[in-house]
Amino acid sequence: MSKAKAYSAASATSPLAFTTIERRDPTDTDVQIEILFCGVCHSDLHQVRNEWSGVMPTVYPCIPGHEILGRVTKVGSAVTKFKAGDIAAVGCMVDSDGTCPACKAGEEQFCPNPTLTYNFPDKHLGGVTYGGYSESVVVDERFVLRVPDNLDPAGAAPLLCAGITTYSPLHHWGVTKGQKVGIVGLGGLGHMGVKFAHALGAHTVVFTTSPGKVEDARRLGADEVVISKDANEMAKHAFSFDFILDAVSADHDINAYLPLLGRDSHMVLVGAPEKPTPISSFNLILGRKSLSGSMIGGIKETQEMLDFCGQHNITSDVEVIPIQKINEAYERLIKSDVKYRFSIDMASLKS
Ligand code: NAP
Ligand code: ZN
Repeated sequence: MSKAKAYSAASATSPLAFTTIERRDPTDTDVQIEILFCGVCHSDLHQVRNEWSGVMPTVYPCIPGHEILGRVTKVGSAVTKFKAGDIAAVGCMVDSDGTCPACKAGEEQFCPNPTLTYNFPDKHLGGVTYGGYSESVVVDERFVLRVPDNLDPAGAAPLLCAGITTYSPLHHWGVTKGQKVGIVGLGGLGHMGVKFAHALGAHTVVFTTSPGKVEDARRLGADEVVISKDANEMAKHAFSFDFILDAVSADHDINAYLPLLGRDSHMVLVGAPEKPTPISSFNLILGRKSLSGSMIGGIKETQEMLDFCGQHNITSDVEVIPIQKINEAYERLIKSDVKYRFSIDMASLKS
């Protein structure tokens, strides 16, 4: 085993602070990675503060981080896809059973026995898995991804969660050129949704609560921007969307968006606020509309997404921060004040 520097939370109310953790020695099929950048997902904050206690209660100490990009330092004897020196990435999962129907379909995110990158039982060391707010990580090669060389590493790290979580539903529901697509919430996920919808040729409309983000939304690829608190603006889009993706982190009224969908159209939730939300059935009945959810994406699809980003030169717009600023970054996330993803420069952990 080796020691690694990391940042952890000791309880739901304590700030993240420096710690030291153990990482396993690589097995035959493992890849050891020195982490260069780790994106900061709002899920990290939900988990650290135990806001998902009903679904996945947090085990402390908690070391979040599932948008990991780094350099391979060592590989096991049976590893074929990576060698020392390669740039590699790890997202929200580090293992799954590999035998269930979901795994066989390449949708490991729906495996009944997954191992998520943090806060899940660690099959190797006991306790729970520790995420990417650390110097290094050791992961089975099946869950390690290749990153196209042309992508900036700090901006590519967030593709591992914000990227795949928005790419996957657009792909699954067949969003294509000429369709009218809405993206609700211009945060880490939302801004990637805008980039992907635009790259797919959709007429892309951003719904935001932040008037200060209108110009950025257009620069990121939006054809139209709607301030979602303005009921008149919202009403102008009634019954017109083919697809709406909701990437909001806080409680909000989904019933405000359903009337904007056209006949037989879909609204998909990727945002995971703490509390349940009521839905008026009339908003679905009138127009045979569907409301669905989506969770990250499988490993094969994540690689496809990274390759798509390589071809279209897509990365996340990031504010690079040292790990020492992580608690301030969380406070800014709560205020919807990030442009548009924090990416931690892990070199700061050495200082
Ligand atoms: P984020 O960067 O904090 O962005 C969230 C955005 O939601 C904000 O920028 C803001 O956009 C909007 N918002 C915030 N409070 C709001 C409110 N009270 N009413 C309406 N809009 C509000 O968060 P993120 O990292 O993108 O994550 C978004 C959500 O997705 C989180 O709940 C996260 O846990 C979840 N998530 C899910 C998956 C999955 O697999 N399904 C994966 C990753 C993350 P505006 O300023 O534009 O309004
Ligand atoms: Zn995430």
